[in-house]
This record gives sequence, structure tokens and C-alpha cells, in this order.
Amino acid sequence: MTAPAWLSQGTLVLASNNKGKIAEFEKLFAELNLPVDVIPQGQLNIEDAIEDGLSFVENAIIKARHASKISGKPAIADDSGICVPALGGAPGIYSARYAGAHGNDAANNEKLLADLQPLRKDGTAIEGMFVCVLALVQHAEDPLPQIFQGIWQGEILDAPRGENGFGYDPLFWLPELGISSAEMSKEEKNKISHRGQAMQLFKASLEK
Ligand code: IMP
Repeated sequence: MTAPAWLSQGTLVLASNNKGKIAEFEKLFAELNLPVDVIPQGQLNIEDAIEDGLSFVENAIIKARHASKISGKPAIADDSGICVPALGGAPGIYSARYAGAHGNDAANNEKLLADLQPLRKDGTAIEGMFVCVLALVQHAEDPLPQIFQGIWQGEILDAPRGENGFGYDPLFWLPELGISSAEMSKEEKNKISHRGQAMQLFKASLEK
């Protein structure tokens, strides 16, 4: 196996300023034991990119290119969110700013509950999925970003449950486990989540 070129650079910039995501990535990258320092972009004073794509994959590439351009280093970005088919895929790529302000988790959750209220029928679950797309670029103009995608199927609760995690975790119900994703530890969530799945694909790409 030939090691990917970016591994020899010593640093991989994590193109996110989301504390919840960064905490999960710290554990996921620690397990991979890579010979590089994975540095969240905030430590390099890199602000969020303008996400003006229409899909997770476009926004993940925009974020990775932005961090790589400013740092001069290889970068990996996560664009993620929750999609509800009954709402035409919303909140989707707008998950972080569903209620307006960026990153207001409480307001976003309230809006999702309110939007789903008229659609609820007794005994019928509302399906939803968490989506994570990772994009890795070796440099800002990399013509061949590597893409890894994870999808985690579940249901959307009609009231929050659990104290862990971030974002929409308190509304995401795993019927087969009988808990919400906010009732899981980071370790349990990382094993099966959208982000954990995408990281497994990333790991597999290193072993090829
Ligand atoms: P991004 O930073 O633009 O990718 O926005 C991601 C948004 O999706 C977050 O702010 C959360 O609202 C939501 N999200 C993504 N992953 C998760 C997760 O694992 N748990 C809960 N919410 C998530």
C-alpha cells in the first residue's frame, strides 16, 4: 500500500468550528492513530466558510478548500445534518441554521418539532436520518477530493430526550435500541452514527 501524500505533511486541518462535532472527531481520530496532528481550524484562527452549495457534498468540499487555502495544509471537512423525508429532506443542509441564527440548537429543535406537529398521526413514526459527508482535500485546488458518506436512519421524537451530544440528538430516536442519540455516550454513538460510518470509510481508504 502507498501512503496517501497528505499523510506526509504532518498536519491535517479539521475544517469545523462546531464544538460537538470536534469532540466526536477527537475520539474518532484518536482511534485511527494517524501519524499526523489533526488540528481544528479554530486553533489556526480560521473562520467558517460561506456554505453556498445545495448539497452536503458541495458544502463539505467548500469548507475543506477554504481551510486548506488559508492554512496551506491538507484539510478534512464534515458537512452534516438531519433530513426528514416527510419535510422534503429539510432541515438538510440548513440544519445548523434551520430556525435562522447559525448554531442555535434549542431554536432549531423547536422549529423541527413545530413543523412536524401537523404531520403526526397516532402510532405513526416520523422517519429521519442523520447524514455526514466528509471531504478531504490535499490542497485548496485539489481536483480530486476524497468523499466519505454516512447515513444513520432513525425516527424523530415528539419531545426531546437525553442530555448528551449536540444539535438534534435529543430528537433522534433509535427504535431498535429504545434510546435517543442524546442518551448514548460518545463512544456508543461513534460506533454507529453517520459520522462514525463516514470515518470507517475514511479508515478503510487508508488501508487500501
Ligand atoms: P454544519 O456544521 O453546517 O455541517 O451543520 C451541522 C448541523 O447538523 C449541526 O449544527 C447540527 O444541528 C446537525 N447535526 C450534524 N450532526 C449531528 C449529530 O451528530 N447530532 C446532532 N445534530 C447533528
